[in-house]
Amino acid sequence: MDLRLDERGEAILRRAKEQRAALAPRAAAFEAAEEVPADVFHELGAAGLMAVGVPEDLGGSGAGTVAYSLAMTEIASACASTAVTMAVTNMVGEVIAAFGSDEQRRAYCPRLAAGELGAFALSEVGAGSDPGGMTTAAIQDGDDWVLTGSKQWISHGDSAAVLVVWARTDGPGSRGLSCFLVPGDAENLRVVKREDKMGLRASHTVALALDGVRVPSSALLGSRGGGFRIAMMALDGGRIGIASQALGIARAAERAAVEHLRALPSPEGAALERLADVRTRLDAARLLTLRAAWLKERGERFTREASIAKAFTTEAAWASCNDVVEILGEEALEEGHRVDRAFRDVRVTMIYEGTSEVQRIVIGRAVLGA
Ligand SMILES: Cc1cc2nc3c(=O)[nH]c(=O)nc-3n(C[C@H](O)[C@H](O)[C@H](O)COP(=O)(O)OP(=O)(O)OC[C@H]3O[C@@H](n4cnc5c(N)ncnc54)[C@H](O)[C@@H]3O)c2cc1C
Repeated sequence: MDLRLDERGEAILRRAKEQRAALAPRAAAFEAAEEVPADVFHELGAAGLMAVGVPEDLGGSGAGTVAYSLAMTEIASACASTAVTMAVTNMVGEVIAAFGSDEQRRAYCPRLAAGELGAFALSEVGAGSDPGGMTTAAIQDGDDWVLTGSKQWISHGDSAAVLVVWARTDGPGSRGLSCFLVPGDAENLRVVKREDKMGLRASHTVALALDGVRVPSSALLGSRGGGFRIAMMALDGGRIGIASQALGIARAAERAAVEHLRALPSPEGAALERLADVRTRLDAARLLTLRAAWLKERGERFTREASIAKAFTTEAAWASCNDVVEILGEEALEEGHRVDRAFRDVRVTMIYEGTSEVQRIVIGRAVLGA
């Protein structure tokens, strides 16, 4: 594996570090206000971080997945809520660049690159791990499609310029799913609930109702019936983003432990052992994540490696945040403490973009060659 960055990748990483330094002091205020201000995403857009893998002629940075992964870790180590929005918008930009028509690409990719948000509306009540159970339907009406149903747990679904919405067009199972680009201000698209979550409190997670949302036939993304394939390809890449996010959250906790132990006259052996475990896990996680990123960047198959990276890294990050709480003691869990925030933020990384159980199914099947 050659993980050296080219000039574009170096520039992305440098700008991500600058953004991390600017964001870190603001993250607690974002959490208290339960909002990341829109200007943050415009700043990230100007820094080239909202469409890292999107080609330059569509307004993206055209940098590789390794640079994206490193940048995501930097941003997540400052603010995990900002990072999840960055991750989903990058994923949406890549999906549109990969599957969109020329018209769709030109309509949306430059806007996402500039810091408008893209949402990914796949999950429903009863269709989380298994999108095949989806009930949102799209019916053809003349030259239009009319979408009816509901979506659950949609990150920044209340402030997206565009949502990639999955709906059933053709019979049961995963083969009947198609994918549509729906503008955030579409008529009959409503936010029905905002979740009150343990972590990622500055990232809005919403339930959406589609009460007959009408879109033109040109809003179909990819081919009719091709929605499941698009979802799986998007999630493979998205898993690298979430592994990188989890790593960033745990890195922030590790930094707090290091500062705490350095300030002590003589740290206890047990604390040093925990710190050693944290660093060992996070180093292994980093390498697994970069391996998946490197394979994706080279255009090789990376499904298994992305799932390995996601399952291992998110669990390592969770265990590491837990160890840091043990090292710091109760002060770590005081409201407003950065470790308290990391501890609450990291948990969801084991759930979204496919739970740990789902990753293990993907890995197990891939190992068997099934
Ligand atoms: C903060 C947050 C943000 C999110 N953002 C988005 C978003 O932007 N877009 C979007 O579409 N979704 C989003 N989601 C939804 C997320 O992807 C789903 O929650 C996740 O896929 C799990 O689905 P579920 O909650 O329906 O759980 P279920 O699928 O009902 O699973 C429940 C439990 O059963 C386990 N399980 C399920 N199937 C199997 C199996 N075959 N074998 C073994 N165990 C199994 C799961 O691992 C889990 O532990 C978000 C979720 C959260 C919490």
